[in-house]
Amino acid sequence: MKSHARAVIIGGGIGGCSALYHLTREGWSDVVLVERDELTSGTTWHSAAQVTNFGAIQVMVGLKSHSIRLYKELADDPEYPINYHHATGGLRLASTQDHLDGYHHFMSLAKGMGVAFELLDPAECQRRHPLITTDNLLGALWDPLDGDIDPAQLCQALARRARLAGAEIYRHTPVTGLTEKPGGEWIVHTGKGDIHCEMVVNAGGYRCNEIGAMMGVELPVASMEHQYLLTEPIPEIEALDFRVPLLRCSTDDFYSRQEKSGLLVGFYEQDCKTWCLDGIDPDFTNALCPDDLDRCIDTMEGTFKRLPCLNEAGIHTVVNGPITYTPDGVPLVGKIPGKRNAWCITGLRAGLGEGGGHGWLLAQMMVHGEACYDTWALDPRRFTRYANVEYTALKAVEDYQNEFRFHMPHEHRPAGRPMKTTPLYPLLKDMGAAFGVVNGWERALYFKPDDGFEEQHSFRFTNAFDVVAREVSAVQEGVGIMEVSGFNRFEITGEGVKDWLDPLFCSRVPKRAGRVGLTYFLNEDGNVKGEATLANLGPDRVWYGSAAAAEYHDMDWLRDRLPEDGSIRIESLTNDYTILVVAGPRSREVLARAAPRTDWSKNSFPWLSVRPVSIGNAEAVAMSVSFSGELAWELHIPNAQLYLAFRHLWSAGQEFGIKLFGLYATESMRLEKGFRHWKADLITEFNPIESRLDRFVDLEKPFVGKAGLEEMRTRGPRRQFVSMVLNSDEAPAQPGDSILADGRVVGTVTSADWGHRVGKNIAMGFVDPDHAEIGAKLTVEVIGEPVSARVCEPCLYDPSFDLVRA
Ligand SMILES: Cc1cc2nc3c(=O)[nH]c(=O)nc-3n(C[C@H](O)[C@H](O)[C@H](O)COP(=O)(O)OP(=O)(O)OC[C@H]3O[C@@H](n4cnc5c(N)ncnc54)[C@H](O)[C@@H]3O)c2cc1C
Repeated sequence: MKSHARAVIIGGGIGGCSALYHLTREGWSDVVLVERDELTSGTTWHSAAQVTNFGAIQVMVGLKSHSIRLYKELADDPEYPINYHHATGGLRLASTQDHLDGYHHFMSLAKGMGVAFELLDPAECQRRHPLITTDNLLGALWDPLDGDIDPAQLCQALARRARLAGAEIYRHTPVTGLTEKPGGEWIVHTGKGDIHCEMVVNAGGYRCNEIGAMMGVELPVASMEHQYLLTEPIPEIEALDFRVPLLRCSTDDFYSRQEKSGLLVGFYEQDCKTWCLDGIDPDFTNALCPDDLDRCIDTMEGTFKRLPCLNEAGIHTVVNGPITYTPDGVPLVGKIPGKRNAWCITGLRAGLGEGGGHGWLLAQMMVHGEACYDTWALDPRRFTRYANVEYTALKAVEDYQNEFRFHMPHEHRPAGRPMKTTPLYPLLKDMGAAFGVVNGWERALYFKPDDGFEEQHSFRFTNAFDVVAREVSAVQEGVGIMEVSGFNRFEITGEGVKDWLDPLFCSRVPKRAGRVGLTYFLNEDGNVKGEATLANLGPDRVWYGSAAAAEYHDMDWLRDRLPEDGSIRIESLTNDYTILVVAGPRSREVLARAAPRTDWSKNSFPWLSVRPVSIGNAEAVAMSVSFSGELAWELHIPNAQLYLAFRHLWSAGQEFGIKLFGLYATESMRLEKGFRHWKADLITEFNPIESRLDRFVDLEKPFVGKAGLEEMRTRGPRRQFVSMVLNSDEAPAQPGDSILADGRVVGTVTSADWGHRVGKNIAMGFVDPDHAEIGAKLTVEVIGEPVSARVCEPCLYDPSFDLVRA
């Protein structure tokens, strides 16, 4: 066994084997995989191993397309062919209008990734799958490349190719400990000796938290029991001369595919069960859980109605095995938060279909620092400390119960909530707040007009439309107040802090104490990595603010660049402060009343400045910044005084008709202003010039990513950020919808909503440069309809910014 390697992967399921193979494909040969038992002896061996191309976001579609291409290549390898039923085709059944709307959206999204789904009517569904009934069926999404693969053969084929490229695999070699060396390298302790390596990868499947514990981290991964049955041969199938397509049903929570001349049928029952939350028997290997089909009775009735042949079919085998879930159902693929050179590919719940793609993206991240897609949706750092085991288990149950039910736009599911609240939560709830979740924090989306109001989630404009319109109007005409919980905030201190920060950002860092600036940072390639508001509180004290979800991501990025002499310190204040935004033309009057000792006048407290203030007897740091495009201040208030400050502001605001507003109203207003949203409109696939942030790039100074950016500039833009106005008032576009010109996909929507002040249906996105000029005519596919669109100025409301400077 080697004592040194560049990277060591722990675990030989599909996640580990795919990562190992792809590291060799990216050019690393000095790589090792260690497996405690045999390859695939965790979950992989007993997987139903369906391989679909369907994904709810473009990155998922892209990585699944990679799996499918790779698996086909492996199946066709004459030296080591494997069993892969490629392109059998699959049906995702729809029995409500919402399902159909959703599938129209997912078709458009997939089209942008070069994947052609179809929407079929019930008769055509039955023609393709003669065993189904069409009762209550409205249609189905057809995935032509759906299929299934032999999981053990797949892993062996990946392992074989990796070995041919120089990788080594040690079976029956349990990892027993991990030691982080002072320089950031690792020692992997195994039952057969130590391996020193630069990087370590946790691919431990349902044992990922045993490996996590060896490095002092808890990954938000919980296991569920999951069952399928295999039938005896079915005469109707034996009579066919083709394989029946795969089926997935979001009404009756089952899936099915052909297995030999019978069916494999799997269930996502409501009465589901977590597995071994308190620890796993060390001898559980190549093993299954006891059968328990009674648990699945609720789903069986509908399943048998859809597939009546099951009433007569004998059951040959039942398979019940552990399957891993994360709180949002999407795996953790990327850097382990707070650790150097430690990666994971865990929480795979559809690992056979996705594993090829996840290993591909992980290997790119490890070798090149970044993958070809923005991988935030998979990034382990999207969950912060709140995502403990108990929370993860509650979310895993919820996710399992909704396995085939895609999230509706703006849907925030209830399990595990409220997880993080500010002291204002009960008050705002009493005042009618409908909450959503941002990085675990409850945040008001809008305020209900009456107790009985519930938003009916839809891909179309919802019944919350008029509610939001009124909130926006209150802010535009008078004054509104909004709580922004969980906004990410670091205090960075130390002598020379500004000089340290300056080269980290491509934008200017506010030099003078009392000034605030919006800044961007890039990766080494020159693409957009993050956005931060820097407030110079002087001397040698800066507040760093960014999106709530960016907490771990940004902390990692900053900490990796700290000077070794300890001269600069970073402290997270994210959980200690909350923002109250006071916005609207009368905001100055409200603040003057609530905080009379501060001069809020234009000359004394101009746009983009910061200072400590007292709101009544509560302390706050006030910043004159605006995401709404109205005159506004952000008040950063210690949580202990938040209630007090709110009461002062609320009471001072009564005379001016102050109203509460929420995230929906803010979203509408920021789209009108053309402000981008991190990880929606600001992604690592584009540089700041393509993202039309030219004015935030100072090419006169050195900064991280400058060489890459300059090199890219010589090649011209790949795509260009645009704002568009859509000619429809029925539905907003959705992120991922395709943008077309002359019938060809030329771009993708990144965010969209109705702009209530300008009365327009607005979408943002990236398009080919030829179609990016103001006035260009485009088509956006919105729930299956081609909607004409026009490229407009990014800022549709108050383009001269007079209101914020008033
Ligand atoms: C019933 C069922 C049906 C499924 N159907 C499908 C499907 O149709 N399509 C699909 O895509 N997915 C399906 N899945 C999910 C899929 O099988 C999993 O997502 C996938 O197999 C997980 O692979 P993995 O590599 O993450 O984990 P595993 O396969 O569990 O691999 C982890 C490996 O790590 C090793 N290991 C753990 N600890 C150590 C240690 N300390 N030292 C060394 N090695 C260690 C283990 O021995 C194991 O081999 C199904 C799952 C179940 C249970």
